[in-house]
Amino acid sequence: RAKSAGNSGFVVFDEGMHQEALSRLQLETDFRLAFERAEFRVHYQPIVELHGGRLVGAEALVRWQHPRRGLLAPAEFLPLAEETGLIMDLDAWVLRQACAQLARWRAAHPALADLSMNVNVDERQMVSPDIVDEVLSLLRKHQLPPACLRLEVTETAFRGGRGQAEQRLLALKALGVGLVVDDFGTGYSSLESFASSPFDALKMDQVFIRDIQSNPRHRAIVRTINSFATELGLALTAEGIETTGQRDALRDIGCQFGQGFLFARALPPEQFEQMLSGIEGIVG
Ligand code: C2E
Ligand code: MG
Ligand code: MG
Ligand code: MG
Repeated sequence: RAKSAGNSGFVVFDEGMHQEALSRLQLETDFRLAFERAEFRVHYQPIVELHGGRLVGAEALVRWQHPRRGLLAPAEFLPLAEETGLIMDLDAWVLRQACAQLARWRAAHPALADLSMNVNVDERQMVSPDIVDEVLSLLRKHQLPPACLRLEVTETAFRGGRGQAEQRLLALKALGVGLVVDDFGTGYSSLESFASSPFDALKMDQVFIRDIQSNPRHRAIVRTINSFATELGLALTAEGIETTGQRDALRDIGCQFGQGFLFARALPPEQFEQMLSGIEGIVG
């Protein structure tokens, strides 16, 4: 966003831009150190059944506990992770944390022994040959049934011709791991790509949920996505549910699972743990 000085073609950096560049550079340096300093965290957001509200799983969402800036959301550092290539290490770390956490929760809460864990996987990770071995060794290490781990990938990861990602997905599918299309409805996938797709589930993007009550076209799209999922035998989760009105609209349409601030935000593990203990008191 450099400003051009008149029509001379020269580009002038003003003080504000200088500061911005410096602070970006600082953030990048900090980011590289964050691993050594163990500043990354994984928070867990509940996924529930819309009918009855039963907890079925969690989505692992990464955070960065920055020493000066506080707790940062992925939007503030994932672009940096992608540019520096550190996204691979970050995703692998989140995956390890999430599997270890899931194994502990399943062991500690017999009433919730079928709890599942969704983990986001960047498309670059999906083309890496390591991902399949990595997942297999984690499942073995923690003695987790493969189906309780669900990998979320966005539609860009299997955009036509992505031969490698396709192969990884098939290999993961063969392990029995769940595969979820994240942010469904906003990406590049063609309907044709679902004719022979390894996916088990769709996560409907929150853009359709936000105004589901006031926007008939969005409501129609949600209904269509729900039929699409049902017809193809795919589980459907709606994300970004903030109000009871949105939840009820989704429930009326028949969407089975949901996630959103109405139920809970992404919680640090101790808080998620407290919630589990509360539920177990009721269920178990
Ligand atoms: P996503 O996978 O689609 O995750 C859902 C995002 O929606 C999360 O944002 C979550 O906190 C937010 N959300 C949940 N419920 C509500 C709600 O009711 N209202 C609103 N407005 N938002 C809600 P978050 O944690 O900031 O993550 C943003 C994105 O960053 C994720 O979108 C995902 O694409 C990416 N991400 C997060 N963790 C990881 C990770 O470990 N690896 C990779 N590769 N990407 C990640
Ligand atoms: Mg996700
Ligand atoms: Mg999503
Ligand atoms: Mg998203």
